[in-house]
Amino acid sequence: MNRTDIGPPDYRDMLPDAIKMNYGKWKYHENVRAGVLKHVSETGDEVYTVRVGSPRLVSIDFIRDICDIADKYCDGHLRFTSRSNIEFITDNKSNVNGIIEEAAKLGLPAGGTGNGISNIIHTQGWIHCHSAATDASGLVKAIMDEMYEYFTSMKLPAYVRIAVACCINMCGAVHCSDLAVVGIHRRPPKVDNEKVLAQCEIPTTIQSCPTGAIRRNPDPNIKSVVVREDLCMYCANCFTVCPAMPLADAEGDGVAIYVGGKVSNARKPPMFSRMVVPFLPNTPPRWTEVVDVLKKIVEIYAGSAKKYERMGEWIERIGWEKFFRLTEIPFTDQHIDDFTHAVETYRTTTQFKW
Ligand code: SF4
Ligand code: SF4
Repeated sequence: MNRTDIGPPDYRDMLPDAIKMNYGKWKYHENVRAGVLKHVSETGDEVYTVRVGSPRLVSIDFIRDICDIADKYCDGHLRFTSRSNIEFITDNKSNVNGIIEEAAKLGLPAGGTGNGISNIIHTQGWIHCHSAATDASGLVKAIMDEMYEYFTSMKLPAYVRIAVACCINMCGAVHCSDLAVVGIHRRPPKVDNEKVLAQCEIPTTIQSCPTGAIRRNPDPNIKSVVVREDLCMYCANCFTVCPAMPLADAEGDGVAIYVGGKVSNARKPPMFSRMVVPFLPNTPPRWTEVVDVLKKIVEIYAGSAKKYERMGEWIERIGWEKFFRLTEIPFTDQHIDDFTHAVETYRTTTQFKW
């Protein structure tokens, strides 16, 4: 069959030999230390994985440097996890220390496995996306600088997944992470009538709004649109199709914090994250207010949860009232979902139980 460049290449062509030969035969795995996994096959084969953190936005030179390590120790094989951890896989136990040392020389710590905090999955932020209400990579850097000890150790009750999305379109796994930071706009788009005329298709712009908040301008002499503020949920969908409706606003934009989501089916069904802090201001480059809240939640969880209890399971056991009391996060009327379309999202879980 002719090869084409459509779609991704077959993953089997890129697997290390040890993984290919033991495919489907893995018996168990161990967390040897933070950042090192050992997988044992039914055949008796062992495979070691060294996981290191990455800066996530990387240069070609950086990729060449990590490929050199992979060439030296892993027959050229290298993988990135969905949370931008870098993994070096080898079937030779004596390679493990060499990989850790060479990665450390590049400033990449081993960690992110077992009951700790893995690299943070995040979206594009100010560096690339037009809809961003906050930065993503800068915010993640500020958070991980404070969470570093939990990346390089496995001392938490269970693993903690953190996600950052720079607007409520949430390109990352924010809805189902133990801790999530979401950029939010709080003001509707500012319509520039002249630009709408020059740059936007009015029917497409009206259709782009999921809540039907955009209407034709009632003045027949103005070929533009108006936004009904009471229906707008500040999602920036309209801005994606009509650049004449920007939402960015230095004072209105900031972040919300969500907790308690998970994808895993272990013990309990998957859980959606719930909002606990409705708004914190954007304060780059360190986002101190955001980092302080996250760190406090992690520390209280670490001291209060049972072994293997995920953040959401811990909160369900102690109750939300106690969670707010322990974390000293104020409970306000902004926690109550009174948005026009809220009735459709009430009591929604990944498993519908009405
Ligand atoms: S979360 Fe929003 S702002 Fe961030 S990359 Fe995705 S669409 Fe853009
Ligand atoms: S921001 Fe979203 S909800 Fe508001 S007008 Fe634009 S598309 Fe509609």
